[in-house]
Amino acid sequence: MPRIRTQSISKTFPDGTQALNSVNLEVHDGELLALVGPSGCGKTTLLRIFAGLDRATDGEIFFDEREISKLPPDQRDLGMVFQNYALFPHLSVFKNILLGLEKHNLSKFDKEEQVQKVAHSLGLADLLMRKPSEISGGQRQRVALARLLARNPSIHLLDEPLSNLDANLRLQMRQELAELHRKHQKTTLFVTHDQVEAMTLGQRICLLNQGSVEQMGTPQELYDSPKNLFVAGFFGMPSINLIHGSIEFKPNGEQAIFNSKDANLSLPLPPNIQPAQQNTILGIRPESFQLVEHSPKNSFVIQRTEYLGDSLVCYLTADELQITCKQPSFEINPADKVGIEVNWNHVHCFDPESGERIQLSES
Ligand code: ADP
Ligand code: MG
Repeated sequence: MPRIRTQSISKTFPDGTQALNSVNLEVHDGELLALVGPSGCGKTTLLRIFAGLDRATDGEIFFDEREISKLPPDQRDLGMVFQNYALFPHLSVFKNILLGLEKHNLSKFDKEEQVQKVAHSLGLADLLMRKPSEISGGQRQRVALARLLARNPSIHLLDEPLSNLDANLRLQMRQELAELHRKHQKTTLFVTHDQVEAMTLGQRICLLNQGSVEQMGTPQELYDSPKNLFVAGFFGMPSINLIHGSIEFKPNGEQAIFNSKDANLSLPLPPNIQPAQQNTILGIRPESFQLVEHSPKNSFVIQRTEYLGDSLVCYLTADELQITCKQPSFEINPADKVGIEVNWNHVHCFDPESGERIQLSES
């Protein structure tokens, strides 16, 4: 049974902005679901509707199959960490965490003990008397989390909790969040615009785009089987290469050939990559190429390389076509002429009109 389920949630703001368009999603009990998408796609709006801070224009929300769309926030047994942490600047860390327990039916002593316990577990024990302005960004982030954990609601909503931190700290807090989730197993909706955060933290991912769900699934499903061009382009760094062209089908079972629209490039297709239509876009990830000797119909020039330590990112061009590929080898230099070989097992084909993935024939 899903812990959280939405049915056709739509939201149009009074000024006419449609922020959500018939969103259906499920979060399973104890799951960490990463809700990801570009800035402005509706993530915060959806979280605020879950929390009861905002109302959907249409649709319903169920917690454990109970319709809760009209319940006030404090009856939903959930806690939210806001992007800016929403700490009170004039209150100490201790009091900020204590605020989470305001509505709890505990004695003052029990509340204070609970604050101490959570503060200790998050490494905040020595900072309890400080004001938010006297601690670092990472520590503020932990205070916001501590306030949530002290309350111990059964659903956690986290709105871009790491986006205000610098890169190193973000990595560290990512691990801490994963560890917290492993320990407490709370049903968690984690919002981020960062594909890497979504991939590394989410047990499943829901990718939103302009208020609609593009695809839901495990990180591997979204990376390996993107439903459309948007999903394919959203995940992966550097981005997937999209090569527009058409397929030249040959009679008598001869190998079909893909001809690029933008360059004098012909790639013979293996028998298992036979899209049912002529015009197609090949989606090939940078790591799915190998550089080989160039030939008349497969000749690129290396424009630039980027050394990443364990690999080399190469930017190649042939006429109007630009390709990025990632190589384990380092004997490649700008101005070199190379050809490409494709690892077809990981290639996707897309319809240029609809952007949807084209199923490949099984032959
Ligand atoms: P995200 O969190 O994914 O960046 P938001 O949910 O904050 O996106 O916003 C989704 C869309 O709704 C954006 O176009 C934003 O400008 C718009 N929006 C958000 N809040 C309001 C509001 N109160 N009134 C009008 N438009 C809003
Ligand atoms: Mg937001």
